[in-house]
Amino acid sequence: MKKVSPYTIEDLLDKLSDDYTPADRDLIRRAHRLAEEAHEGQRRASGEPYINHCLVVASMLADLHLPTDTIAAGLLHDTVEDTAVTAEDLLQDFGEDVAKLVQGVTKLTQLPRVSRGEHREELLNSPAPEADEQDLRTRKRDLANETLRKTFLAMDEDVRVVLIKLTDRLHNMRTLGFFPEAKRRRIAQETLDIFAPLANRLGMWQIKWELEDLAFRYVNPEKYKEIADQLSERRETREVQIKGIIDHFFQVLKDAGIEVEISGRPKHIYSIFRKMTERGKPFELVRDIRAVRLIVPDVPSCYAALGVIHTHWRPLPNEFDDYIAAPKDNFYQSLHTAVIYDDGKPVEVQIRTADMDTNAEFGIAAHWRYKEGGHRDKYDERVNYLRQMMEWRQDVEDAQEFVDSMKTDVFKDRVYVFTPRGDIIDLPSGSTPIDFAYHVHTSIGDRCRGAKVNGKLVPLEYGLKTGEQVEILTAKHGGPSRDWLNPSLGLVRTQRARAKIRNWFKRQDREQNLAQGRGMLEHEIARLGLRELSQQNLEALAHHFDRNVEEFYIALGCGDISIGRVVNLLLETEESDDMLLFVPPTSEPPSPTDAVTVLGLKDALTNMARCCNPTPGDEIIGYITRGRGATIHRQDCPNILRIRDRERLVKVSWGEKVRTFPVPVRLTAYDRQGLMGDVTNLLDSEGVNIRDASARTSKNLAELRLVIDVKDLAQLSRILARMENLPNVLEAVRVKGG
Ligand code: MN
Repeated sequence: MKKVSPYTIEDLLDKLSDDYTPADRDLIRRAHRLAEEAHEGQRRASGEPYINHCLVVASMLADLHLPTDTIAAGLLHDTVEDTAVTAEDLLQDFGEDVAKLVQGVTKLTQLPRVSRGEHREELLNSPAPEADEQDLRTRKRDLANETLRKTFLAMDEDVRVVLIKLTDRLHNMRTLGFFPEAKRRRIAQETLDIFAPLANRLGMWQIKWELEDLAFRYVNPEKYKEIADQLSERRETREVQIKGIIDHFFQVLKDAGIEVEISGRPKHIYSIFRKMTERGKPFELVRDIRAVRLIVPDVPSCYAALGVIHTHWRPLPNEFDDYIAAPKDNFYQSLHTAVIYDDGKPVEVQIRTADMDTNAEFGIAAHWRYKEGGHRDKYDERVNYLRQMMEWRQDVEDAQEFVDSMKTDVFKDRVYVFTPRGDIIDLPSGSTPIDFAYHVHTSIGDRCRGAKVNGKLVPLEYGLKTGEQVEILTAKHGGPSRDWLNPSLGLVRTQRARAKIRNWFKRQDREQNLAQGRGMLEHEIARLGLRELSQQNLEALAHHFDRNVEEFYIALGCGDISIGRVVNLLLETEESDDMLLFVPPTSEPPSPTDAVTVLGLKDALTNMARCCNPTPGDEIIGYITRGRGATIHRQDCPNILRIRDRERLVKVSWGEKVRTFPVPVRLTAYDRQGLMGDVTNLLDSEGVNIRDASARTSKNLAELRLVIDVKDLAQLSRILARMENLPNVLEAVRVKGG
């Protein structure tokens, strides 16, 4: 976005591309005429006519290539707030769209003042006596969250409202110097707290950086000056250096056959400051960083260029980020790395395609740039999501409405939930109360025993939804449960929580982990009805994890190895002749009768019986042989009818897609209402058929016997574990020989 501002309507119209029709231009001209009239006689703090501000805002919106209505609304954005023009006037003269946009901006302008009043003073200026720096920072962040929430609340359904507000704020920041000191600081702080993060959320980096640098200048003038001075002191040297680096990079990449455009990248003062404070790097290190940006034709070239750069110059550890494979939340994509250049000093490198570059510069606004192009879908999706995010209505007091409108599934990858105090916690979607608890504080996570969502108790595997308020019920003492680490239970979603839980167990003593690990393995084997492992098999199992048996138990106990992985391994290596679950591995080539599906036999080998030669369409049955899989007979084959060992017969069918096998399980629980319903729901969610069920109750103990059709052992393990996690359930096991 260029700083050169048109100060006349003609300048503004001149910069519009040919996509804007004469009718568009006419609308913009009319909007300008009304704004000029309405603001007649008003002046900015700088002394210039007020209409200049409106023109600059409109011009920035035109730079973003936004639709005509938005540019017109940019011209009119202060009329309802500051002049005699009413919303009805706008509706009459410019139609619903423009009127709604201006109204949205007006509302947004009025809102943050709510939090500037006593509440803010109270929060910031009268901390409790024992409050320290950390505390104050937390309070500030809470306040920013609260204001951000209210800002969101104030937005109408249209993301364009926010874009107008952001450009408005940007121009106000550029001209902030004309205000008195106290006001400057307040507005600058608000910009850092709210508007820069908002621009970042929308992926509008250009605006974000400019807002940050402008604000930082007033929030921390000493530091700003120090960094700016040092930067300008070396500007010339640095520019020469960067030119040299660009030429060198270009040559090297050209030699490698990569088409590339390279530009130097200005360092932003606030980002330097943040690097210094967040990473604790001395200024010299940060100051000497040169930054370049490589634009290449396509994604493969991005990685190719990265490879070439890394081959020629040594990459700095921990500086590589692949935002192409894993885009940031705001859809930003690029490769980031830093290398040591020939002079022994670092160069930061960004590698991206032209598309990614446009995207990084314009963020959400790129949507309108691609209006006619083939990228529409992607941006439509984005705009949709933001539009929905902003769909909630005005009433700040009405939290319920906010909550309700946020409940729509608009954030595909994140959920935003509230603490009882109203702070927003941002989590990956699918996060559970435990994730939430660990996010708030490790000790809350460790002591988490239950959760309430919107005041109602929920199970711990409950998937949090955007807008919900979450309250964690904690025990006074104690730690997490090992079940939390069992991925099949889905109790924990985030790596962060997982790591913290593992840490807790690691801190427990070795003996305890060892006993726990052994117990877990024995329990799992018993539960699945497998044969006990021989010492040899146990050693082999431990060896698979590069550990001896003792270390293996400890790792299992503290959660470094998940029981799920062990189960899968048991499934592969089990030598049991347990005919329902396992077929011994064999090196025989697959028989030509692969079309037969043997229910319950995973990748079973089958042979066609010679005696009756079944052909497709025949009613068939399998007979389990020792070591050679199943032999397929016709059901009416005399040999089959004669067989006494009926247990070795197995149901088979011709090429069915879903293979399942029946497994009897037993569940013991303290009887309660709804238990059977919960079990049924659980099995339903696994897509598992219940073949047979019976229940028996004695005193207050209930015993449920079920025969369920499962796909494999891993699924069985998961189901049993999930069953044991239902309230009141004491045990869920596979019944041997059932
Ligand atoms: Mn304004």
